[in-house]
Amino acid sequence: MNNTAESVWENCLSFIQDNIQPQAYRTWFEPVKAVKLVDNALSIQVPSKFFYEWLEEHYVKLLKVALRKELGENARLVYIIKMENTYGNRLPFTEKIPSAERSHVKPQEVDVPIKNKNPELRNPFVIPGIRNVKIESQLNPSYNFESFLEGDSNRLARSAGMAVANKPGGTSFNPLLVFGGVGLGKTHLAHAIGVEIKEKYPEKTVLYISAEKFTQQYIESVKKNTRNDFIHFYQLIDVLIIDDVQFFSGKTGTQDVFFHIFNHLHQNGKQVVLTSDKAPVDMQDIEQRLLSRFKWGLSAELQSPDFETRVSILNNKLYRDGVEMPEEIVEYVAKNIKSNVRELEGAIISLIAQSSFNKREITLELAAQVVDKFVKNTKREVSIDYIQKVVSDYFQMDVETLQSKTRKRHIVQARQLAMFFAKKFTKASLASIGSQIGSRDHATVLHACKTVDNLSSTDKQFRKYVEDLTKKLSL
Ligand code: ADP
Ligand code: MG
Repeated sequence: MNNTAESVWENCLSFIQDNIQPQAYRTWFEPVKAVKLVDNALSIQVPSKFFYEWLEEHYVKLLKVALRKELGENARLVYIIKMENTYGNRLPFTEKIPSAERSHVKPQEVDVPIKNKNPELRNPFVIPGIRNVKIESQLNPSYNFESFLEGDSNRLARSAGMAVANKPGGTSFNPLLVFGGVGLGKTHLAHAIGVEIKEKYPEKTVLYISAEKFTQQYIESVKKNTRNDFIHFYQLIDVLIIDDVQFFSGKTGTQDVFFHIFNHLHQNGKQVVLTSDKAPVDMQDIEQRLLSRFKWGLSAELQSPDFETRVSILNNKLYRDGVEMPEEIVEYVAKNIKSNVRELEGAIISLIAQSSFNKREITLELAAQVVDKFVKNTKREVSIDYIQKVVSDYFQMDVETLQSKTRKRHIVQARQLAMFFAKKFTKASLASIGSQIGSRDHATVLHACKTVDNLSSTDKQFRKYVEDLTKKLSL
């Protein structure tokens, strides 16, 4: 790849142009020039400080997306500000000068890190009592809004999360409680809110913590007689994100301390974000007064994603990993794994791994095997009768023909395929399969399975039969 600053910027521009109004594009992007490209850092020259600030304020996301598409996750953007009015400033300079800029002489450069580095303290429960200690947010930067794909199933929760991130503590969504089943994105969304707030309001103290860890810290503080420090520590936080609050069930001491912390934060306009695997009404062994606090703000549910959303989640994952996969395989996986995004991702990762370890092409058959492992509990049992019906329909014959004693090649093949799928999709023994498919013996079934295996690796047309039928039998 022979990237130049110009070529990279040109590609960014055409992406940007597709995503904003022509007027805005002409005003804010046409005057920008690409200057140099060093590793992952693209330097662009902007006409003024004001330009730089405007771009940062209004287009930083778009720029990030565009640049990452070109230069990968570690892409960076450096602004070079063309000096204004070399012959003395005509305008009084009122814009705020970002600190990063001050140390530079002309042309001024502003290096905007695209990834948060966050060189803060590790332990969230550090040196209690010391007020101005920096608290590390414990956020995972890759769990952001950009990677949290929107669909009908999550639209409310996602936009409430965005609203909270735009104005932490300043919306009626306080607390924001996100609830939903396992693997539907609660943790991801909780992080995304925190990550976005850190990006917008770097000075705010954000803390993500699981309810379990919170509980452990609390118990520890009781043991060590530092309960007050524990409470003070949490009262310092501007945005407190607690994941899986159902964990507080039955833990009255922790609920009590959380109640006090919550009230303090809420009264002081601080934001609280909670997640739970149940709606507040269904939570058990949580004190009433706490439940009623949970209901003060907004409870937003994450539901199982619909088919389209599942496909886009998979495509997005493949895209980010730089893997190409036939659309029909993606759709097959999305069709068969319905209830849980984590499993969806798991299946596609395992499919990629299988194919690259074993140097196997990703076929529908391989996909079916992998998906099988993920959904084996919920998979409905396919009967041998059903298999015979599907196979004979596919070859446009009736079941009696398929079972008959004829040695006509296409009928023999159909029969062998039926046996092969019966072996594959049912727990029936070879003997039992044989007796149900035209009263054959177990050796015939075994032979049929081997023949199908062989033919599908040597005969393209035959492999197509196997794939089509696999698909039909798995839906
Ligand atoms: P939960 O906390 O509800 O059990 P997670 O937040 O851990 O679920 O999500 C499980 C996986 O699914 C994570 O890898 C997450 O990134 C992914 N995921 C969930 N929802 C989405 C979505 N809407 N877009 C992209 N990825 C998602
Ligand atoms: Mg979770």
